[in-house]
Amino acid sequence: MSKEIHRETTPESYFDSLYESDAELEKIERSIRERGMPEISVEPGYGRLLTLLVRATGARSLLEVGALGGYSGVCLARGLPPGEGRLTSLELKPEFAELASANLKEAGFGDRSEMLVGAAADSLARLEAEGRRFDFFFIDADKENYPVYLEFAIRLANPRAIVAADNTLLRGRTLDPNKQGPSVLAIREFNRSVARDPRLTSVHLPSYDGLLLAMVNEPNA
Ligand code: SAH
Ligand code: MG
Repeated sequence: MSKEIHRETTPESYFDSLYESDAELEKIERSIRERGMPEISVEPGYGRLLTLLVRATGARSLLEVGALGGYSGVCLARGLPPGEGRLTSLELKPEFAELASANLKEAGFGDRSEMLVGAAADSLARLEAEGRRFDFFFIDADKENYPVYLEFAIRLANPRAIVAADNTLLRGRTLDPNKQGPSVLAIREFNRSVARDPRLTSVHLPSYDGLLLAMVNEPNA
């Protein structure tokens, strides 16, 4: 009804309002707020998209870079088939990793998730040395290192793996020519090079804070 739509309504908040509230995810957001951690979990619509993509692609081995409180981790793990698959989360801060682990456990994914604490580039190098491979990547940590994380993702990718990367708009800074900080420059270069990368089939989604979606092409695709 039109009277429910007031001026502050955005397309995102309109569609979000159609969904039932999600007690499990709200609890995670509350746990983040209570600890005074940054309230920068992935936006709800993109959380739903992560669940959908994992489920639709049949991905079994999932990797996220940047765990925070476990919101995106739960969204990713929800897409796994019952009792199968595994989520590996990389998180710099031990106290964040601890909360994310606790929240994943509470959501029923304790035995199918692992948390690697430390700088993600180090963990990725270790995973590569161990010969680990993944079907799905969610990049959502320090923006300057997005290009580094993408190269790791491509090397650690199973055929037809999906790569999603959050916050490609940096709350408008990406589009603001006056902003020239290191994160902004890195994201602009990331967005541009991904769009032209022959190894990827990709699309940039402009809703919320921007999301890159890409599939790693099979060789000769
Ligand atoms: N994906 C989470 C939000 C992540 S916020 C969600 O949507 O629920 C970004 C996270 O990246 C923070 O928790 C931050 O501590 C972590 N981070 C920042 N730099 C990092 C690094 N170099 N290696 C690993 N994690 C990092
Ligand atoms: Mg994010």
